[in-house]
Amino acid sequence: MQKLLIIGGGFSAVALTCQLLKQPIPQHIYIIAPKATWFGGIAYRCAARNHRLNVVAGNMSLYPQHPHDFVNFLCEQAEFSATPREELLKSFVERRWYGAYLQQRVTQAQRSGASVGHSVEWIDGQVSSLQAHLTSVQITCSNGEQLEANRVVIATGNKPSEPPWANCLESPDLKHLPILVSNPWIAKFPHPVDQNLPVVLIGAGLTMVDTYLALRSQGIGNPVIALSRKGLAPLPHSFATLTDIGVNPHEFGEQFVRLKSLKQQLLLAARTLRTLAKQGISPEAFVAAIREHVQSIWRQWTIAEKQQFMRHLASRWNVIRHRVPGDIYATLQQDQQLRRLIYQQARLTSISGHAEALTVQLSHNNGSTSQIEASLVVNCTGPSRNGVTSVDAPLFAEIKRGRYQVDALGFGVAADPKSFAVLEHTGEPSKLVYVLGSLLRGALWETTAVPDIRVLAHQLADSLAAKPA
Ligand SMILES: Cc1cc2nc3c(=O)[nH]c(=O)nc-3n(C[C@H](O)[C@H](O)[C@H](O)COP(=O)(O)OP(=O)(O)OC[C@H]3O[C@@H](n4cnc5c(N)ncnc54)[C@H](O)[C@@H]3O)c2cc1C
Repeated sequence: MQKLLIIGGGFSAVALTCQLLKQPIPQHIYIIAPKATWFGGIAYRCAARNHRLNVVAGNMSLYPQHPHDFVNFLCEQAEFSATPREELLKSFVERRWYGAYLQQRVTQAQRSGASVGHSVEWIDGQVSSLQAHLTSVQITCSNGEQLEANRVVIATGNKPSEPPWANCLESPDLKHLPILVSNPWIAKFPHPVDQNLPVVLIGAGLTMVDTYLALRSQGIGNPVIALSRKGLAPLPHSFATLTDIGVNPHEFGEQFVRLKSLKQQLLLAARTLRTLAKQGISPEAFVAAIREHVQSIWRQWTIAEKQQFMRHLASRWNVIRHRVPGDIYATLQQDQQLRRLIYQQARLTSISGHAEALTVQLSHNNGSTSQIEASLVVNCTGPSRNGVTSVDAPLFAEIKRGRYQVDALGFGVAADPKSFAVLEHTGEPSKLVYVLGSLLRGALWETTAVPDIRVLAHQLADSLAAKPA
């Protein structure tokens, strides 16, 4: 029987497994990841009660073939028995529900897969190295255990970002202070000694929103200053579409993807965004129209165009793309008016201090500098998606040995955008080693959210089944 090994136990692993279990030829699937991260990783396992999905439930099914599967799951839960289905489709439920959904669905899929001869083995472990031979792949875990399979899919997903203060602490000992928090998804924040000194959140995206809500729910009432290098702040979901300005979104998307260069696309984007702004309609309408074409657009661009996009537009794109539920946005706005939450455009230059307070030095676009005395400083720069680092242990060693390479933009590993096979140093797609999720970012750019990964997982399962090793 064919053996396939998946490194990672988050959404990518679950989505791929559920698709593989629908394939007619039985196989044995190993899924190997630290147990605490099975069925959801940091996104869906560790979520606090007030942490919500940032995509509507109606678009969070794990199966592209059954778009409302997650809503069906929610409808079966006692907590939602009084909520009309139409309302659930558009709701942003707490993220913990998503972890429960993934666990239930993969368990069901394993049961029905077993009836046609498939088997799945979940292994609690951290893979430290991988060796692809001629017809098999061997992995080694950090406890020395080894496993062999015909093929391997690496889906190691979100990794912690290096804190923005890594190179600017006045003394290296400061990094051990509990009030300097590198991991924003910790269960409990230390309570500030001084209730009046602000908390500084470095980053102003969705991780900042999670952290802000967690601080408030833990009774930390200090004013909060959220820093953004580009002066951007989260936007709300508005469900706006281009129809609101009399444009057919489908035709617009088709037209946009046919344009030959980034320059032409930018001109059309700028014109459309101006029209939307004039009419007070969210730029979300533009993003929604081209969303399904983003991977194709990315593949058309030259490396220089991709670099240009990353330098000048990616931050703005991310803010429009990753939005917050309207009610959470309203809370943030209200707190902004009360000066409980302050957005500030600034760049961190250094941190000094002691166990009870930190001095955060900042520089500003106009060349000026300033400082904030802070009671707590939290890294809210979000998961790191750049590069293959030692955190991606199974690939890292092989890249260092020169067998595989990082992609041209340094986001993940060089991989074939159609088969998701890692490229050998010869440029040939590997027949044994594949990637899914954020490691595919260099090849396809938008590869980290559920609506993207579920489609990629489906494609990968089909192509693996079509060409047994
Ligand atoms: C806080 C947060 C909230 C999010 N909310 C949403 C949302 O609402 N909607 C949405 O569409 N997307 C959301 N996302 C995007 C999210 O990245 C994806 O939805 C999804 O979690 C990605 O799944 P993944 O399996 O690729 O990665 P992960 O969930 O990060 O899983 C990676 C897995 O690999 C394992 N692993 C890593 N290294 C090794 C190793 N060496 N050996 C063995 N195992 C290893 C990890 O332990 C983990 O099990 C969110 C992301 C974050 C961080």
